[in-house]
Amino acid sequence: MAVIGGGPAGAAAAIRAARRGARVIVFEKGAHGRDKVCGDGLTPRAVAALDELAIPLDGAHLIDGLRMIAGKRRRELPWSAGGRFPDHGAVWPRRRLDAALIDAAVAAGAAVRFGAEAQAVIDDAGRVTGVRSGNATIAADLVVIAAGAQGAVARQLGAVRDPHEPYGIAIRAYVESPRHADRHIEACLTVKDQHGTWVPGYGWMFPCGDGTVNIGVGALSTMRGFKQLNLNSLLESYRALVPDWQIGPNLERPRAWRLPMSAVKRHGPGWVAIGDAAGLVNPMNGEGIDYGLESGMLVADLFEADPASAPIEYDRQIGERFDGFLRTGRRFAFLIGHPRLMRTGLRFAVGTDRIANITLQVMGNLVDSSTPGAAGRTVRLADRVLAAADPVLRKTRAKA
Ligand SMILES: Cc1cc2nc3c(=O)[nH]c(=O)nc-3n(C[C@H](O)[C@H](O)[C@H](O)COP(=O)(O)OP(=O)(O)OC[C@H]3O[C@@H](n4cnc5c(N)ncnc54)[C@H](O)[C@@H]3O)c2cc1C
Repeated sequence: MAVIGGGPAGAAAAIRAARRGARVIVFEKGAHGRDKVCGDGLTPRAVAALDELAIPLDGAHLIDGLRMIAGKRRRELPWSAGGRFPDHGAVWPRRRLDAALIDAAVAAGAAVRFGAEAQAVIDDAGRVTGVRSGNATIAADLVVIAAGAQGAVARQLGAVRDPHEPYGIAIRAYVESPRHADRHIEACLTVKDQHGTWVPGYGWMFPCGDGTVNIGVGALSTMRGFKQLNLNSLLESYRALVPDWQIGPNLERPRAWRLPMSAVKRHGPGWVAIGDAAGLVNPMNGEGIDYGLESGMLVADLFEADPASAPIEYDRQIGERFDGFLRTGRRFAFLIGHPRLMRTGLRFAVGTDRIANITLQVMGNLVDSSTPGAAGRTVRLADRVLAAADPVLRKTRAKA
């Protein structure tokens, strides 16, 4: 198996496949310990995936719950215990998380080439037969595209983002704060841009436990004036909303990146795409590490069972597991792109403890349409209502 990209998704595939005895090679264009622009937040679902990979959380700062802020309303809720997932999340700066993951892949026996940009080798019949990097060509039974937000490799395979679907962009910086060891992450749902337009997205304070806090803000492409959105100004306005964190200046230049939320294709003969490369980011909270880890493990399992059928089987199982929920999330993105609907929705989302708890479960990637109980029922209902409203919401979409 050859893997292009050594982020969480590629590393998870490599760890699992190498531990099961497969010959695995990973090509990562960055150096060992490269950074990835991210909020560094791990939901309980992501922690469960790391547990499954037997990656100890030694380097991470553990988190007990989420504080949601909408205007003057604040609600602090613990990650719920007793469900499918652990009762804690974590914040783990990506330089360290990704290094721990790729080191585990090496320890499992995978060969990892750093500083090695790669592309797929495609034969005349359109089948991916291996990987080319520099002068080297490596043949592989399966090529796993784990190259993050769709770029050159995705274009090569026609596995780009669906232009009709929403996507996100977000910016983050690190700052010092006396509250760096807080045990709650914070999400502010009422952020406005420099023109006073409500931003469908949120600002976050994710304490890293090492003297610093990851501060950032993200927005969905369904927003009015999205193309003119200045993320640096947005981050500056958000800083003004968090005086209680007593933050210092940015420790490094703020950096922004894309959050893909769809892919027109995620498999083909001889290849599959996983993680961000497959558009597996939750439109309701912008989180993708857990889906990256889960899709990586899934493809390794299917490769072990039968490399030939792995691409088709992968597409089917990812569809069953995630497509419905992510489709609801994308419809939700169109909904909150309408400022008036967003304002009403926000008041509702944190209005009572009961509803805030459901919002929390959605924000924590803890729920999907198969989840039992009130949260699962709400998602199923939202599924139906949003499906009915979807054509209107898309047609009345604000000008980007
Ligand atoms: C600002 C921001 C904040 C976010 N916050 C969170 C958060 O708090 N929690 C969360 O769960 N998610 C968050 N996300 C999303 C999360 O970062 C991604 O979902 C996650 O990184 C996906 O992992 P991945 O392995 O698929 O891709 P990546 O982490 O992007 O890894 C892809 C790797 O492929 C390498 N690569 C690319 N092209 C090639 C090539 N041709 N050859 C070789 N190597 C290549 C890259 O160097 C990179 O190392 C955030 C995203 C952004 C932009």
